[in-house]
Amino acid sequence: MLPRHALAARVRTGAWWTAYVKVSEGCDHACSFCIIPKIRGRHESRPMDDLVAEAASLAAEGTVEICLIAQDLTAYGRDLAGDASLARLLRALAVRVPEVRWLRLLYAYPASVTDELLEVVADEPAVCKYLDMPLQHISDRLLRAMRRERSGAAIRRLIARIRRAVPAIALRTSFIVGFPGETEADVRELCAFLEEAEFDHVGVFRYSQEENTPAAALPDQLPEPVKAERWKRVMAAQARVARRRAAAHRGQTAEVLVEGRDARGCLTGRTRGQAPEIDGRTYLKGRAEAGDIVQARIVGAETYDLVGEIIASG
Ligand code: SF4
Repeated sequence: MLPRHALAARVRTGAWWTAYVKVSEGCDHACSFCIIPKIRGRHESRPMDDLVAEAASLAAEGTVEICLIAQDLTAYGRDLAGDASLARLLRALAVRVPEVRWLRLLYAYPASVTDELLEVVADEPAVCKYLDMPLQHISDRLLRAMRRERSGAAIRRLIARIRRAVPAIALRTSFIVGFPGETEADVRELCAFLEEAEFDHVGVFRYSQEENTPAAALPDQLPEPVKAERWKRVMAAQARVARRRAAAHRGQTAEVLVEGRDARGCLTGRTRGQAPEIDGRTYLKGRAEAGDIVQARIVGAETYDLVGEIIASG
């Protein structure tokens, strides 16, 4: 067992209303492109009471949003005694630290998204209906080469299961393009999958050959210009989807966490469906202060961002 707070990795971004809390360290998976298990070692969860205490101290500083992070978030609790799990941690945080209004999940591993977890996301008001779940690719051949634990068919079934359990969920994922041996057909399959799955937010990364990883030794490494062209194509495919997804929010009412003014002086914030730093933002008309949670009517949408009018304080 690690000493109390040995794993504490709270990252304060200067925005006191939001914080990242790392619930565990390390990873037991063996993705062929990733060096993290070698650097960080085996997965080790922080005790639940430590995490509740950290959340309470953040709440005392005014934090209203906590993003739970880890290299493998959904493995949380497996190595702890008793019945600890991410779902139980969320329930404990919601009950014991009610001042934190939004709890957000970043970096779920697809194979360990349980029904118990989806139930908490669906029915616990403090838990944002939002899930970040890196998928890396959809081609079976590449998923095998990446040593991921899911096939394309299993990923499709999982997304359907998540949306059945939490119909209004905002899904974020990330993909790698230009993995060794990736073909034009694989890229077409990925672009078609983006159209089919309609994710709200997608990160696309160009494969980078990490020393001492199995993927670095694979044949058929692709030249950088090929990776760059594929990255552009996949990003363009997702931009079309993102425009549709964003437009669908018009007319809805949403809670928005206000984050202050941008360089042009526009008031900005984020809905529960927009994570800090990685997703789009919501531009607001009306008066509010950074750290406020307000109700806004969404009146406009750009590719990745929304526009809202404040209709009530939160
Ligand atoms: S990509 Fe994520 S799940 Fe895979 S080995 Fe690295 S940290 Fe673990």
